[in-house]
Amino acid sequence: MTYTDTRDSEAKVDFKTAVMSGMSSVTGGLYVPVEFPKIDTSKMFKDGKPDFISAAIQMAKPYVEGEIPDADLEALIKDAYPFEPKLVKIEDGTYVLELSHGPTCAFKDFGARFMARAMSFFNRGENGKLHILVATSGDTGSAVGSAFHNVEGLDVTILYPEGKISPLQEKQLSTFTGNVRALKVKGTFDDCQKLVKTAFTDKDLRAKFRLSSANSINISRLLPQGFYYMYASLLAQAENPGKEIVVTVPSGNFGNLTSGLIAREMGAPITGFVAATNSNRTIPDWIATSEYKARPSVETYANAMDVGAPSNYERIAYMYTLEEVRRLFAAYWLDNDGIIKSIKACKDSTGYTIDPHGAVAYKAWEDIKNGALDNLEGIDITKPGITPNRPDWADKAKSAVGIVLETADPAKFSAIVKDATGAEPPIPERLQKVMALPDRAIPMENDYAKFKAWLVANL
Ligand SMILES: *Cc1c(COP(=O)(O)O)cnc(C)c1O
Repeated sequence: MTYTDTRDSEAKVDFKTAVMSGMSSVTGGLYVPVEFPKIDTSKMFKDGKPDFISAAIQMAKPYVEGEIPDADLEALIKDAYPFEPKLVKIEDGTYVLELSHGPTCAFKDFGARFMARAMSFFNRGENGKLHILVATSGDTGSAVGSAFHNVEGLDVTILYPEGKISPLQEKQLSTFTGNVRALKVKGTFDDCQKLVKTAFTDKDLRAKFRLSSANSINISRLLPQGFYYMYASLLAQAENPGKEIVVTVPSGNFGNLTSGLIAREMGAPITGFVAATNSNRTIPDWIATSEYKARPSVETYANAMDVGAPSNYERIAYMYTLEEVRRLFAAYWLDNDGIIKSIKACKDSTGYTIDPHGAVAYKAWEDIKNGALDNLEGIDITKPGITPNRPDWADKAKSAVGIVLETADPAKFSAIVKDATGAEPPIPERLQKVMALPDRAIPMENDYAKFKAWLVANL
């Protein structure tokens, strides 16, 4: 597969270059495959049922062809996914797709684990280790740390702002041993990011170590997220023959939704999407007004979606015109009060405990299923709710089958869920284990010279 650059369609690179460099250093653009081949979904079944691993292998093949041999790809995928997405029917016409069964209990495990293994594959035969430096404000760091833990040839240093992430998030970052370690920086997330960026441009340091990032815009994180859209839509189709399928995606940087678009291009039976956001409503506003206005992010209860300038907007706008987006997407946004009410409403009417991110998607889908797209007159886009846009599938919305993506386990946001429902969600065993581990974070001043000296002495 050839990959091109969202800012220069003449650019052509292979998968290895796209993975190892993350983004174009020339234009600052993002890599996208030049095509999304339609594939034969019949090879994604096992014993008559859709099979996640088979879907993953079939979908990944065209993107790594000629660079990762089939046998290595199969081994890579099996090693990346000892867990599966789970499609759970919560009421008539609505499924929740649980993406939280990986080691860090959030959907980012799907992308990060594939990326780590692809990097490790490409690092074989190179001289020495590849050092990954990541700055994190929370969830990305734990998915990356966990995904790279014990992966051959790779070594990871995570920087996070001391005292500015939740105690559980801190445990998930600071308890690794071996090839992954965390530095708790006396500063903000921006300070952490600046230390990492300075290291990348430090010629002296780069002469000593091979450095790379594990950025969320890496194409090797997006492609594997398409696997679960394919798997879940095939499963929903098998259980609801003849029905249209609409997927509602709680979104921040819109990487997850972009992965859904890729899966649909490749033949996943998905009629349309609902782009659901919290108060960071840059994309709903773009769909409503035709104007894309990035803005500073606002803090919300669905904090992994607190993004005012979604990085994958650039990929979506490269792949589709705004008119095409409007035909394919409904859009919706919800404020904090709505998030609490949605968690409670979901619990009360279906018995299902949903996390604050999934709650945004649940409410969006409930409103649409109950006819929100039928009356778009006089909508004020500065108030939470449906965006005044009628996608092509609006007439079929009430009879469609909805898949609501649940991107994290509710136990990761236990206090908010308890506020909404009165009950603390049960803590999965793998989170309990992490909470009992000793904290190994290394204190670090917000000072580049000290950070560099530490790297030189310790990597
Ligand atoms: C990262 C994250 C999101 C947002 O995903 P994007 O791909 O950035 O749109 C939603 N929910 C949770 C729990 C996340 O960690």
